[in-house]
Amino acid sequence: MPMKNNYHTHTPRCKHASGTEFEYCEKAVENHYSILGFTDHCAWPYREGFVSTFHMDISQIDDYVSSVMAARQQYEGRLEVHLGWECEYYPEYMNWLRETKEKYGFEYFILGNHFDTTDDGGMYFGSCTTPEQFKKYVKMCTAGLETGLYKYFAHPDLFLRSCTTYDKPLRDASRELCRACKALGIPMEYNLLGYIIYKKESGEHLGYPCRAFWETAAEEGVDCIIGTDAHSPDRFDDQKSWDEAVVFLNSLGMNRLTRLDL
Ligand SMILES: [Zn+2]
Ligand SMILES: [Zn+2]
Repeated sequence: MPMKNNYHTHTPRCKHASGTEFEYCEKAVENHYSILGFTDHCAWPYREGFVSTFHMDISQIDDYVSSVMAARQQYEGRLEVHLGWECEYYPEYMNWLRETKEKYGFEYFILGNHFDTTDDGGMYFGSCTTPEQFKKYVKMCTAGLETGLYKYFAHPDLFLRSCTTYDKPLRDASRELCRACKALGIPMEYNLLGYIIYKKESGEHLGYPCRAFWETAAEEGVDCIIGTDAHSPDRFDDQKSWDEAVVFLNSLGMNRLTRLDL
Protein backbone atom coordinates (compact mmCIF):
# COMPACT_ATOMS: atom_id res chain seq x y z
CA MET A 1 0.00 0.00 0.00
CA PRO A 2 1.43 3.45 -0.93
CA MET A 3 2.31 5.68 2.01
CA LYS A 4 0.23 8.76 2.75
CA ASN A 5 1.12 12.12 4.27
CA ASN A 6 -1.34 14.37 6.06
CA TYR A 7 -0.62 17.86 7.29
CA HIS A 8 -4.09 18.69 8.65
CA THR A 9 -4.96 17.16 12.05
CA HIS A 10 -6.83 18.57 15.05
CA THR A 11 -6.81 17.87 18.80
CA PRO A 12 -9.58 18.32 21.42
CA ARG A 13 -8.26 21.77 22.34
CA CYS A 14 -10.40 23.27 19.54
CA LYS A 15 -13.48 22.10 21.49
CA HIS A 16 -14.87 19.97 18.64
CA ALA A 17 -12.33 17.15 18.10
CA SER A 18 -11.52 13.99 20.05
CA GLY A 19 -8.46 11.78 20.64
CA THR A 20 -5.00 12.19 22.11
CA GLU A 21 -1.89 12.90 20.05
CA PHE A 22 -0.87 9.31 20.80
CA GLU A 23 -4.16 7.94 19.39
CA TYR A 24 -3.82 10.00 16.21
CA CYS A 25 -0.25 8.77 15.74
CA GLU A 26 -1.19 5.13 16.37
CA LYS A 27 -4.01 5.25 13.83
CA ALA A 28 -1.79 7.04 11.32
CA VAL A 29 0.92 4.37 11.58
CA GLU A 30 -1.65 1.58 11.40
CA ASN A 31 -3.04 3.12 8.18
CA HIS A 32 0.28 3.63 6.40
CA TYR A 33 0.80 7.32 6.91
CA SER A 34 4.44 8.36 6.96
CA ILE A 35 3.95 12.05 7.85
CA LEU A 36 1.46 13.48 10.34
CA GLY A 37 1.22 17.23 10.84
CA PHE A 38 -0.84 18.56 13.75
CA THR A 39 -2.66 21.79 12.86
CA ASP A 40 -5.23 22.42 15.53
CA HIS A 41 -7.24 25.65 15.34
CA CYS A 42 -4.83 28.28 16.65
CA ALA A 43 -5.16 30.53 19.66
CA TRP A 44 -5.77 34.25 19.04
CA PRO A 45 -5.27 37.24 21.37
CA TYR A 46 -8.97 38.18 21.41
CA ARG A 47 -10.36 41.12 23.34
CA GLU A 48 -10.83 40.47 27.05
CA GLY A 49 -13.89 38.33 27.70
CA PHE A 50 -14.32 36.76 24.25
CA VAL A 51 -13.96 33.00 24.07
CA SER A 52 -13.95 31.44 20.59
CA THR A 53 -16.15 28.41 20.15
CA PHE A 54 -13.63 26.59 17.92
CA HIS A 55 -10.11 27.75 18.73
CA MET A 56 -7.75 26.72 21.50
CA ASP A 57 -7.15 29.23 24.27
CA ILE A 58 -3.83 31.02 24.70
CA SER A 59 -3.37 29.18 28.00
CA GLN A 60 -3.32 25.87 26.06
CA ILE A 61 -0.44 26.68 23.70
CA ASP A 62 2.26 25.31 26.02
CA ASP A 63 0.45 22.01 26.49
CA TYR A 64 -0.29 21.69 22.75
CA VAL A 65 3.32 22.31 21.75
CA SER A 66 4.79 19.99 24.38
CA SER A 67 2.29 17.19 23.58
CA VAL A 68 3.04 17.30 19.85
CA MET A 69 6.78 17.43 20.50
CA ALA A 70 6.50 14.45 22.86
CA ALA A 71 4.65 12.49 20.15
CA ARG A 72 7.32 13.48 17.66
CA GLN A 73 9.99 12.02 19.91
CA GLN A 74 8.01 8.90 20.72
CA TYR A 75 7.36 8.07 17.05
CA GLU A 76 10.78 8.92 15.70
CA GLY A 77 11.71 6.49 12.94
CA ARG A 78 8.09 5.31 12.53
CA LEU A 79 6.14 8.47 11.80
CA GLU A 80 7.32 11.98 10.98
CA VAL A 81 5.35 14.30 13.28
CA HIS A 82 5.16 18.05 12.68
CA LEU A 83 3.97 21.01 14.71
CA GLY A 84 1.59 23.42 13.02
CA TRP A 85 -1.59 25.43 13.38
CA GLU A 86 -4.62 26.10 11.21
CA CYS A 87 -5.14 29.87 11.26
CA GLU A 88 -7.43 32.42 9.67
CA TYR A 89 -6.21 35.71 8.31
CA TYR A 90 -7.09 38.18 11.04
CA PRO A 91 -5.06 41.29 10.04
CA GLU A 92 -5.00 42.76 13.52
CA TYR A 93 -3.29 39.69 14.96
CA MET A 94 -0.67 38.96 12.31
CA ASN A 95 2.24 40.40 14.27
CA TRP A 96 1.20 38.36 17.27
CA LEU A 97 1.04 35.26 15.08
CA ARG A 98 4.49 35.89 13.69
CA GLU A 99 5.94 36.37 17.17
CA THR A 100 4.18 33.30 18.50
CA LYS A 101 5.56 31.19 15.65
CA GLU A 102 9.08 32.23 16.63
CA LYS A 103 8.52 31.86 20.34
CA TYR A 104 7.16 28.31 20.22
CA GLY A 105 8.95 27.01 17.15
CA PHE A 106 5.87 26.24 15.05
CA GLU A 107 7.05 24.64 11.81
CA TYR A 108 4.16 25.73 9.63
CA PHE A 109 0.70 27.27 9.44
CA ILE A 110 -2.11 26.48 7.03
CA LEU A 111 -4.70 29.09 6.06
CA GLY A 112 -8.21 28.00 7.03
CA ASN A 113 -10.07 31.26 6.52
CA HIS A 114 -13.35 30.54 8.30
CA PHE A 115 -14.32 34.11 9.28
CA ASP A 116 -13.97 37.62 7.93
CA THR A 117 -11.49 39.63 10.05
CA THR A 118 -12.39 37.90 13.36
CA ASP A 119 -14.75 35.24 14.66
CA ASP A 120 -15.67 37.76 17.36
CA GLY A 121 -18.55 39.08 15.23
CA GLY A 122 -17.17 38.65 11.70
CA MET A 123 -19.06 36.86 8.91
CA TYR A 124 -18.68 33.10 8.51
CA PHE A 125 -17.25 32.66 5.02
CA GLY A 126 -19.07 29.34 4.66
CA SER A 127 -22.32 31.33 4.49
CA CYS A 128 -21.36 33.52 1.49
CA THR A 129 -24.09 33.86 -1.15
CA THR A 130 -23.57 37.26 -2.86
CA PRO A 131 -20.92 38.46 -5.34
CA GLU A 132 -19.76 41.06 -2.77
CA GLN A 133 -19.21 38.33 -0.21
CA PHE A 134 -17.30 36.16 -2.71
CA LYS A 135 -15.07 39.15 -3.50
CA LYS A 136 -14.45 39.75 0.19
CA TYR A 137 -13.40 36.14 0.67
CA VAL A 138 -11.00 36.33 -2.26
CA LYS A 139 -9.58 39.62 -1.03
CA MET A 140 -9.02 38.45 2.55
CA CYS A 141 -7.56 35.08 1.56
CA THR A 142 -5.21 36.65 -0.96
CA ALA A 143 -4.02 39.22 1.57
CA GLY A 144 -3.47 36.40 4.06
CA LEU A 145 -1.47 34.29 1.63
CA GLU A 146 0.63 37.31 0.71
CA THR A 147 1.92 37.52 4.29
CA GLY A 148 4.04 34.46 3.55
CA LEU A 149 2.95 32.92 6.86
CA TYR A 150 0.94 30.06 5.36
CA LYS A 151 2.33 26.91 3.81
CA TYR A 152 -0.90 25.84 2.15
CA PHE A 153 -4.52 26.88 1.73
CA ALA A 154 -7.01 24.61 3.53
CA HIS A 155 -10.49 24.09 2.05
CA PRO A 156 -10.11 27.09 -0.35
CA ASP A 157 -13.63 26.42 -1.65
CA LEU A 158 -15.28 26.91 1.77
CA PHE A 159 -17.01 30.02 0.38
CA LEU A 160 -19.02 27.89 -2.07
CA ARG A 161 -20.54 25.89 0.76
CA SER A 162 -23.94 27.65 0.91
CA CYS A 163 -24.23 28.46 -2.81
CA THR A 164 -26.50 26.54 -5.15
CA THR A 165 -24.98 27.12 -8.60
CA TYR A 166 -21.46 27.69 -9.83
CA ASP A 167 -22.53 30.79 -11.75
CA LYS A 168 -20.42 33.56 -13.27
CA PRO A 169 -19.73 35.60 -10.11
CA LEU A 170 -18.67 32.44 -8.31
CA ARG A 171 -16.61 31.23 -11.24
CA ASP A 172 -14.89 34.63 -11.55
CA ALA A 173 -14.10 34.75 -7.84
CA SER A 174 -12.80 31.18 -7.90
CA ARG A 175 -10.59 31.92 -10.86
CA GLU A 176 -9.15 35.00 -9.20
CA LEU A 177 -8.41 33.00 -6.06
CA CYS A 178 -6.75 30.22 -8.04
CA ARG A 179 -4.64 32.72 -9.98
CA ALA A 180 -3.45 34.28 -6.72
CA CYS A 181 -2.42 30.87 -5.38
CA LYS A 182 -0.66 30.02 -8.60
CA ALA A 183 1.24 33.33 -8.57
CA LEU A 184 2.24 32.89 -4.93
CA GLY A 185 3.11 29.20 -5.33
CA ILE A 186 0.64 28.14 -2.63
CA PRO A 187 -0.91 24.66 -2.89
CA MET A 188 -4.67 24.29 -2.41
CA GLU A 189 -6.01 21.57 -0.18
CA TYR A 190 -8.59 19.03 -1.28
CA ASN A 191 -10.36 18.68 2.06
CA LEU A 192 -11.46 15.17 3.00
CA LEU A 193 -13.62 16.26 5.95
CA GLY A 194 -15.77 18.35 3.62
CA TYR A 195 -15.75 15.46 1.18
CA ILE A 196 -17.39 13.07 3.64
CA ILE A 197 -19.79 15.66 5.11
CA TYR A 198 -21.14 17.08 1.85
CA LYS A 199 -21.23 13.78 -0.02
CA LYS A 200 -23.77 12.57 2.55
CA GLU A 201 -25.88 15.72 2.44
CA SER A 202 -27.84 15.53 -0.77
CA GLY A 203 -29.17 19.11 -0.39
CA GLU A 204 -29.13 21.77 -3.07
CA HIS A 205 -25.95 23.44 -1.77
CA LEU A 206 -22.59 23.03 -3.47
CA GLY A 207 -20.69 22.18 -0.27
CA TYR A 208 -16.95 21.57 -0.61
CA PRO A 209 -14.76 20.28 -2.15
CA CYS A 210 -16.76 21.40 -5.19
CA ARG A 211 -16.03 19.64 -8.48
CA ALA A 212 -16.53 22.80 -10.61
CA PHE A 213 -14.15 24.79 -8.41
CA TRP A 214 -11.49 22.11 -8.79
CA GLU A 215 -11.92 22.12 -12.54
CA THR A 216 -11.15 25.86 -12.44
CA ALA A 217 -8.14 25.18 -10.21
CA ALA A 218 -6.88 22.61 -12.70
CA GLU A 219 -7.32 25.06 -15.59
CA GLU A 220 -5.23 27.60 -13.68
CA GLY A 221 -2.49 25.07 -12.95
CA VAL A 222 -2.61 25.33 -9.16
CA ASP A 223 -0.80 22.65 -7.14
CA CYS A 224 -2.97 20.58 -4.84
CA ILE A 225 -2.53 18.49 -1.71
CA ILE A 226 -4.95 16.17 0.08
CA GLY A 227 -5.74 17.07 3.71
CA THR A 228 -7.60 14.67 5.99
CA ASP A 229 -8.67 17.47 8.39
CA ALA A 230 -9.00 14.76 11.04
CA HIS A 231 -11.07 15.65 14.09
CA SER A 232 -10.92 12.08 15.42
CA PRO A 233 -8.24 9.39 15.01
CA ASP A 234 -10.55 7.01 13.16
CA ARG A 235 -10.58 9.36 10.17
CA PHE A 236 -7.30 7.72 9.20
CA ASP A 237 -9.19 4.43 8.68
CA ASP A 238 -10.98 5.97 5.71
CA GLN A 239 -8.86 4.74 2.83
CA LYS A 240 -11.80 4.91 0.43
CA SER A 241 -12.17 8.72 0.51
CA TRP A 242 -8.43 9.15 0.12
CA ASP A 243 -8.37 6.87 -2.93
CA GLU A 244 -11.36 8.64 -4.49
CA ALA A 245 -9.63 12.00 -3.99
CA VAL A 246 -6.46 10.74 -5.69
CA VAL A 247 -8.45 9.40 -8.65
CA PHE A 248 -10.40 12.66 -8.98
CA LEU A 249 -7.34 14.93 -8.81
CA ASN A 250 -5.46 12.70 -11.24
CA SER A 251 -8.41 12.86 -13.63
CA LEU A 252 -8.02 16.65 -13.66
CA GLY A 253 -4.30 16.28 -14.40
CA MET A 254 -3.35 18.32 -11.35
CA ASN A 255 0.09 18.36 -9.78
CA ARG A 256 -0.50 16.80 -6.35
CA LEU A 257 2.08 17.42 -3.65
CA THR A 258 2.70 14.69 -1.13
CA ARG A 259 5.37 16.44 0.92
CA LEU A 260 5.82 20.01 2.14
CA ASP A 261 9.19 21.66 2.64
CA LEU A 262 9.11 22.59 6.31
ZN1 LIG B 1 -10.86 24.58 8.73
ZN1 LIG C 1 -9.17 21.87 10.09
